[in-house]
Amino acid sequence: MAKLPFERPIIKKINIGVPNKIGMKTEYTPITEIDGVSVKQMIKEYGSPVYVISEKTIRETYKKAYSAFAVRYPKIQFAWSYKTNYLNAVCKTFHQEGSWAEVVSGFEYDKAIANKVKPQHIVFNGPDKSREDLIKAIKNQSLIHIDHFDELYTIISLTSELNETPKVAIRVNMDTGVYPQWSRFGFNYDNGEAWDALNRIMISKKLDLIGLHAHIGTYMMTAEAYKIAGQKLSDLAVKLKEKYNHTIKYIDFGGGFASKNTLIGAYLPGSDTCPSFDDYAEAITSSIINSKIKPDDFPTIMLETGRALIDDAGYILGTVLANKKLADGSNSTVIDVGVNLLFTSFWYEHQITPAQEFSPYTENTTIYGPLCMNIDVIRRSANLPIMKKGDNFVISRIGAYNMTQWMQFIALRPKILMIDLKGNVHIIRENEKLKDIVSMERTPEHLNNFDV
Ligand SMILES: *Cc1c(COP(=O)(O)O)cnc(C)c1O
Repeated sequence: MAKLPFERPIIKKINIGVPNKIGMKTEYTPITEIDGVSVKQMIKEYGSPVYVISEKTIRETYKKAYSAFAVRYPKIQFAWSYKTNYLNAVCKTFHQEGSWAEVVSGFEYDKAIANKVKPQHIVFNGPDKSREDLIKAIKNQSLIHIDHFDELYTIISLTSELNETPKVAIRVNMDTGVYPQWSRFGFNYDNGEAWDALNRIMISKKLDLIGLHAHIGTYMMTAEAYKIAGQKLSDLAVKLKEKYNHTIKYIDFGGGFASKNTLIGAYLPGSDTCPSFDDYAEAITSSIINSKIKPDDFPTIMLETGRALIDDAGYILGTVLANKKLADGSNSTVIDVGVNLLFTSFWYEHQITPAQEFSPYTENTTIYGPLCMNIDVIRRSANLPIMKKGDNFVISRIGAYNMTQWMQFIALRPKILMIDLKGNVHIIRENEKLKDIVSMERTPEHLNNFDV
């Protein structure tokens, strides 16, 4: 008998009805409503796709985060990270809860002022503050977090010009055991640069050094890194006390807490693996209370948490446009939500849930957006219930960064709704219209006549 040719073994997952510890299916029940409001009704009334923000979830998440810190430490202040989601309705919800504003550009600074945040309660971060921005922030007594020596010297030179004493902190970067290390922002702790900057501020006698700041990274999957940051920042505070008898008023730990989203390629869902607010709060507060800072000098702990406070409150609702087989025989589904509206699909495996009843069968499919661009992939491979053209779905946990990093590309951006605590639906941003986009264009006269 002829020997059979070798064929490599394959492992094939059986999809129907066989549970494993991870769970075969990604979805078990449809999402038919958000905060009591029907998903299909919102699509019917406001169009597809449409973003939805839950005011209730924002407030609940904020309270949970705040109390995790407040039960462990007496002086806590949050500042809302504008770039994470700077829709006015979202910012004002956070401001009503007690958050100050954290901004990283002149545009965001002006937005916070227009939102009526007290200027002294605006934290101004980032490497790009223009001379005009700095003058405004100095006159307003806003909290300027210095990013580099060039900025420090500009501020010192402005003090004599303006005859003001700016309120400043420095941003410090450091090795916290998480790599790659973000050393491009602020002054490095480990090589002595941060201490050098602090000495220059103190001997200038022209600045009111009120804080120390670090924002060590984003989507930090270990709370331990914050403890190390806290130890290093406390060390600087203690040295300032020893050398200058100077007490700083706050230590700002920045943001970076992970949301419950799942990173692409992760084995377990983010909701199972990411630290909780309690974990972060425990690490941060213990780094201060166990430091050599004297209790009378304990600084306010400031937090600029972004994604972890807003991700869960945001949804995008949409419609299936088509199902098609690819040339290799695999399935694909085309939906009306593309990467232009869901920028975070470049790093998250977003949860997509049908908005109507479905059968127990699931299949692997690639989810494509509607753009005429090969990069427009929402999920490379999703094990989803079968959906057909016209079916609706809900993509959850998209409140962070999508409504600021979105692109007006190929299509116009849709409406954004907010569901208030009573279940009323508000349009908080209108859908874009052709006239909005062309209103910024100017056509040279000689291009206006043609015959095609
Ligand atoms: C972006 C940013 C934040 C918020 O970061 P998250 O990772 O969304 O929590 C906070 N502080 C600064 C300085 C930032 O640049």
